[in-house]
Amino acid sequence: MHKRSVAVSVVACIALLAVYSGSFNTTAASQSVPAQGLVGPPAVPPDTLRVTLLGTGGGPPVNLRQFGASTLVEAGGKRLLFDCGRGTTIRLTQAGIPIGSVSRLFLTHLHSDHVVQIPDLFLAGWVGTAAGRKVPFEVWGPDGTRDMMTALERAFAFDIHIRRDVDEKFSAEGIKMQSHDIKEGVIFDEDGVRVTAFLVDHAPITPAFGYRVDYRGRSVALSGDTRVSENLVKFATGVDVLIHEAIDPVASRAASTNLAVTELVIAHHTTAEQAGEVFARVKPRLAVYSHAPNSEAIITQTRKNYSGALQGAEDLLTIDIGEQIDVRHSAQ
Ligand SMILES: [Zn+2]
Ligand SMILES: [Zn+2]
Repeated sequence: MHKRSVAVSVVACIALLAVYSGSFNTTAASQSVPAQGLVGPPAVPPDTLRVTLLGTGGGPPVNLRQFGASTLVEAGGKRLLFDCGRGTTIRLTQAGIPIGSVSRLFLTHLHSDHVVQIPDLFLAGWVGTAAGRKVPFEVWGPDGTRDMMTALERAFAFDIHIRRDVDEKFSAEGIKMQSHDIKEGVIFDEDGVRVTAFLVDHAPITPAFGYRVDYRGRSVALSGDTRVSENLVKFATGVDVLIHEAIDPVASRAASTNLAVTELVIAHHTTAEQAGEVFARVKPRLAVYSHAPNSEAIITQTRKNYSGALQGAEDLLTIDIGEQIDVRHSAQ
């Protein structure tokens, strides 16, 4: 196990960040790949908001280094999942989080790279007498979320019927689905954990949301997929950690087989230079990328406009937001 550095104060780390933007109060994760339910992650300290980047890749193509969009936020004993892209259940298990313990899902928008692993989380998370979910699976998302979830229940009706009514007789409550088509505003407020949805600009994919989570004076905002959004700047102002998407237009064009489509895709997103401007305006204690290439080029492009604390897009990165911000990299 390689220890990259010990946790130090945010201020002391700024100088280090100027040299190596990928390091921010970093410690290597304390375990390798725990079997589900056997070795969990370290407990979330009190008054702390923990963020785990499960998947930081963008777009539908299979990416073995960066799985599909998905971020876990833990606070006040609650586990809230934001998007459920490819590999979410695998990354949760690698992070030591039993998938049956994740029953609340918030969707930024309905592009497949953000929702494609929902069936596995819904169904596999329910299976098991001890570890299986015993409470309904609850989903919040833009218009169309309810229809999609109802269709998903129908698609898997056979499996649900067999395991609930005929064979293993798993919890009937645990395979219930509650889904909500949301509007901008506070959509979840329980025991001091508040989730606010705000509109972002991913047109023509409308509506598309970003989210902000607040807990005991700590906060994180997630951009979802968006081009530069003034509304995001408004809602994210004052946040401790801003997780933003980015695209590398140079790399995208270089890899393109159809420039017209590539330009269309670039126009739906935020370039790293533009994200740097957003970070400079919002001034989070730590800026983080997800749904972005994990590349030096992204960092270099961002640095044209932003000199604050910055972390590249990296699967299984854990960020504890408390008095100080501690970042742990996965040992994998
Ligand atoms: Zn996406
Ligand atoms: Zn999208």
